[in-house]
Amino acid sequence: MKLSILFICAEVFVVGVSLALLSPTESLAANKPNILFIFSDDHCEQAISAYDSARITTPNLDRIAQEGMRFTRCYVTNSICGPSRAVIQTGKYSHLNGFFRNGNRFNGDQQTFPKLLQQANYQTAVIGKWHLVSTPQGFDYYDVLKGQGPYYNPPMLTAGPDGEPLTREHTGYTTDIITDKALAWLESRDKDQPFMLMCQHKAPHRNWMPGPKYLNWLDDVTIPEPETLWDDYSGRTQAASKQAMTIREHLNANDLKLTGRGPLNEEQKKVWDAAYGPKNEAFRAAEPNMTEEDIVRWKYQRYAKDYLRCVKSVDDSVGRLLQYLDDSGLAENTIVIYSSDQGWYLGEHGWFDKRWMYEESLKTPLLVRWPGVTQAGATNESIVSNLDFAETFLDVAGVTVPDDMQGRSLVPLLQGSVPNDWRQAFYYHYYENPGGHNVARHYGVTNGQYKLIHFYALARQSIDDWELFDLKRDPHELQSVYDDPKYAEVRSEMLAQLNELRTMYQVPEDTIEEPQPARRR
Ligand code: CA
Repeated sequence: MKLSILFICAEVFVVGVSLALLSPTESLAANKPNILFIFSDDHCEQAISAYDSARITTPNLDRIAQEGMRFTRCYVTNSICGPSRAVIQTGKYSHLNGFFRNGNRFNGDQQTFPKLLQQANYQTAVIGKWHLVSTPQGFDYYDVLKGQGPYYNPPMLTAGPDGEPLTREHTGYTTDIITDKALAWLESRDKDQPFMLMCQHKAPHRNWMPGPKYLNWLDDVTIPEPETLWDDYSGRTQAASKQAMTIREHLNANDLKLTGRGPLNEEQKKVWDAAYGPKNEAFRAAEPNMTEEDIVRWKYQRYAKDYLRCVKSVDDSVGRLLQYLDDSGLAENTIVIYSSDQGWYLGEHGWFDKRWMYEESLKTPLLVRWPGVTQAGATNESIVSNLDFAETFLDVAGVTVPDDMQGRSLVPLLQGSVPNDWRQAFYYHYYENPGGHNVARHYGVTNGQYKLIHFYALARQSIDDWELFDLKRDPHELQSVYDDPKYAEVRSEMLAQLNELRTMYQVPEDTIEEPQPARRR
């Protein structure tokens, strides 16, 4: 008896000593931060009041900015849904992760950051929009929309009892359903392990169907028109005028809520029709006396309001998640990241949609709250990217970043210092042509002051069109100065920079053939 008591005492003593000997980093690792990644689809800075308060107030998103860091120059490498998600999973450009355009299938067997976190004892989950076609890998739990997913009553895929994907039906508004599921997972997870949750909304992707709560919100206001709504594309090469994404011509009756009600049930239809019926009647009565310009203005208002209404539900979702972190005592040790797969045209250049290397779609919002690390209300203007997310998450978790990832951890920036050798220029490449909205394939480089773009394929034809913008003098990118002799030096410097980045990132030679997934390395 005496002997066993002695034994226990000795054990307690050993544990006590080993805890005392832990270095500060090791004791931090014992209490690894949780990662809550809240992500949306096609949400631009123009629709977050922390960036731009002209059109909407988003108090919950703004709270992340007020309590954390707002990045003003987060660029995406390829401004389209699936490819952006593949970049985030892998920390690699499209030409290495093999997902070039929507319609490709993500090779989930490759290295991804959730797998590496899982190996480091993180509990991982993805809930909401996945959009990478293949079944999610590297997650302890997944519950994802099938494909694009509808705004109401979404079927969702999760692992069944045999581990195979199983479809489950749901009734309600998709943004709310995804939030409910995220909260339920946070509550039911194993609370002894750190977590990494990706809560990914479908909203505010086309066709912008608002939730029941916001169907009449903004009815009595006029949304300000962007300065470039009436852009005639005269200052750029052929690509800008050959696209098919104008508010004037390419929004359809379904987008504008003049027809169609998606997958609504009878009860939802009644609520929907009560909201849109009278508004549509008023438009149809006025239409015969409207000029073409009046109609574009009306379409812009209808489109922008529906988009903002969808954003409002995303903001509510963020509020519920932040509240949960407060109530559960998790807020202190959880890094919260808000971002979108790319930016978006909320009428700028007369457009909806994304894809271009022009500012509105090149940029994506990035807000990060990390209590005790990131100074509240901080702003960072460095060039960062969705290419950096994977490495940042690994670094936050204290996991070694693999050498073949192509981004850089944002942790030093979040701590308030920008390394001297931080990137000064950014490489971009868009591949989806032929494809939706007929945006030419292009690549380019920007350093925040100048931007050089090469359009090289349009409608299966090889083209060789270059644009150069002086972003300080021409922030809306209306007039290319590529052929202006005054910019000859800038032009050659930017070209040299572009070639350097293409070499550094191992970009293959241009081709107008359908890009094939890169061979596994
Ligand atoms: Ca998107």
